[in-house]
Amino acid sequence: MTSQTEPGESPEGSLRVPSADDERRRDLLASIPSLPKVLLHDHLDGGVRPATVVDLAAETGHELPTTDPDELGAWFRTAAWSGSLERYIDTFVHTAGVMQTVDGLRRVAREAVLDLAADGVVYAESRFAPELHTERGLSLEQVVDAVLEGFDEGMRAAAADGRGIVVRGLLTAMRQRDRWDEVAALAVALRDRGVVGFDLAGPELGYPPDRHAKAFDLVRDAWLPATVHAGEADGLGSIAGALHVGACRLGHGMRISDDIRGGELGTLAHWVRDRQVPLEICPTSNVHTGGAPSVAEHPITHLLRLGFAVTVNTDNRLQSGTSMSAEFAALVEQAGWTLADLRQVTLTAAHHAFVHEDARTALIDEIITPGYARAGGGRHLA
Ligand SMILES: [Zn+2]
Repeated sequence: MTSQTEPGESPEGSLRVPSADDERRRDLLASIPSLPKVLLHDHLDGGVRPATVVDLAAETGHELPTTDPDELGAWFRTAAWSGSLERYIDTFVHTAGVMQTVDGLRRVAREAVLDLAADGVVYAESRFAPELHTERGLSLEQVVDAVLEGFDEGMRAAAADGRGIVVRGLLTAMRQRDRWDEVAALAVALRDRGVVGFDLAGPELGYPPDRHAKAFDLVRDAWLPATVHAGEADGLGSIAGALHVGACRLGHGMRISDDIRGGELGTLAHWVRDRQVPLEICPTSNVHTGGAPSVAEHPITHLLRLGFAVTVNTDNRLQSGTSMSAEFAALVEQAGWTLADLRQVTLTAAHHAFVHEDARTALIDEIITPGYARAGGGRHLA
């Protein structure tokens, strides 16, 4: 297509009548921001506003690559998209690095809720690793308290603005460190205060989850659900390890596709699909870290068509320059997803949220189902 070609015009200049499919896609893209969305995999230190990083860095004396918020936002995206894992990880030095005070943590948590609500997210689980926020002397408990207070403030402000949202916390332990037992115990202790689960993150290679078996025993004995980052940087062995320690969901899990050949599922893929183990897939993030060449070629669509319990997530909104609406739009534009597909992944995410069943049912019946019915003009979408 030449640069002179207008939308709806062929390269030869004759007007092309938009097809019914074009119109449907345009309407669908326009409706995405207002569709109710559910987000299960979003890192608090991966979604800080650049202007907030600048403010908090000034307060704490943290040195940044630039103090211009726009330039800083671009710096985060460039580093994350560079294909270098080292540069990608370096970005968190500047987000977690400034999230070291009660006020700073509360502010980041509050703003995350407001940003998600503004994007049409109605339920989110935001994860964070308390041990990354203790450099200036905060205890693990103080970190979690500050974040939970921020979530509460954000939910109240969003509701006052007419955008109801529920945000719950997942406590993450870093696999390469050594505080997983403490973090697991804290998640159990705070389960009635807004923490709904436990997560394991950090380098998959060389740090299999059976290394942290005691932490998983602890949460399992307390009947607190866990999710594990697995099947992103490492393959089937990592996914199997996560399931062995009792993971209820798989963080990413996309590499379960390694066990599928020409539509034929291997035994592990069968287990994951047949038991409907939810996959917290983050398409744009996976493209940035080299897990897939593009959203169009990402295995997510194939996995959805094969009947896996697929959910769509953001992972790191700041570094990946993304949002739930942007993920949905990329899937519609690049992978041919329909409104029915978006509805299905939203219902799957709601069904597998770590809140109790009565809360999930209310979310589905009162918000998600009516929201998608409105977008579909009341038509049945299944
Ligand atoms: Zn993640």
